[in-house]
Amino acid sequence: MKLPSEAEAEARTRAMRQQIEDNANYRQKSLKMHGLICARCAREFDQSTAHLLTVHHKDGNHHNNPPDGSNWENLCSHCHDDVHSRGELGEYLSKK
Ligand SMILES: [Zn+2]
Ligand SMILES: [Zn+2]
Repeated sequence: MKLPSEAEAEARTRAMRQQIEDNANYRQKSLKMHGLICARCAREFDQSTAHLLTVHHKDGNHHNNPPDGSNWENLCSHCHDDVHSRGELGEYLSKK
């Protein structure tokens, strides 16, 4: 096993940093794209309650963040819990 070269290590660090930024940004992007409304119960939110709206990944993969927003669904925390408690996906509770 050989150690990664400096260039490799740097590229890896950059990719990791990019991923962290993407993850921080997808929520804002999704809220902007789909609006401050729950996709399931149609409850509406405004700037003061937007923090109650969560972004669900339809395929359960947090790293799958296509720029067209096709993997995102804005859900209120109640609907989000509901989706995950059905056992379809279990990814988000552990991440909070
Ligand atoms: Zn809802
Ligand atoms: Zn989810």
